[in-house]
Amino acid sequence: MAIWNPWHGCRKISPGCANCYVYRRDESIGKDAGIIAKTGDFTLPRKKNRQGAYKLSAEDGVVYACMTSDFFLEEADAWRPDCWDMIRERADLSFYIITKRIDRFAQCIPPDWGKGWDHVTICSTCENQDKTDRSLPILLSLPIKHRQVICEPMLEEIRMEEYLATGLIEHVTCGGESGPDARPCHLDWILAVRSACVRFQVPFTFKQTGAVFVKAGKTYHIERKYQMQQAEKSGLSYAPGPASVRFEEK
Ligand code: SF4
Repeated sequence: MAIWNPWHGCRKISPGCANCYVYRRDESIGKDAGIIAKTGDFTLPRKKNRQGAYKLSAEDGVVYACMTSDFFLEEADAWRPDCWDMIRERADLSFYIITKRIDRFAQCIPPDWGKGWDHVTICSTCENQDKTDRSLPILLSLPIKHRQVICEPMLEEIRMEEYLATGLIEHVTCGGESGPDARPCHLDWILAVRSACVRFQVPFTFKQTGAVFVKAGKTYHIERKYQMQQAEKSGLSYAPGPASVRFEEK
């Protein structure tokens, strides 16, 4: 896995942004995450080593783009075309773009985007039902080859059966919120999305519990280092098996 942050800083736009980890981390070092600026890594996919080979290679795995901002941020409109050029040039890599601004996608794609690029996955984040019902119809209507959904930080129970039923969503990830002001995440919410994923045979990952996790009416405060571990231990992540197994799961 590789991370490519062409710019840093963001603007909060939805309830899921309230305790944004970028703001939290920047505040801890006296920085203002509201200042959006290109980074020294802007051209990372194009950078070469002394031997003339690209620094990033397919062996690095998936390239996660814009993890300390949002790729479709308005303030980055002037910079994005260069990023598309680099993404186009590096069709040997797989790019993974997570956004809370899927509504801006159509006006931000390059002219030769066509029906989407095979090596680009677009992931829409949905923290509550309202965001899910606004974002997923857009995500599904767009020319994208690989679509994923992340419910993180999950803030309430989310129903997404109608969107999963299309067969166009390749993966769903759920998780709670971390940090000192974390809002609770309930096991029941995780189970509801998992069960919808199992029903429609969509791979599902329970990534982390978050700092405040509610299970059977009891609230648990979980240290950062155990949040992913506990989710993994729960065994709730799901990968569809062969046809016979899938049938039993339903
Ligand atoms: S969109 Fe993402 S990076 Fe930007 S403020 Fe919201 S949570 Fe933070």
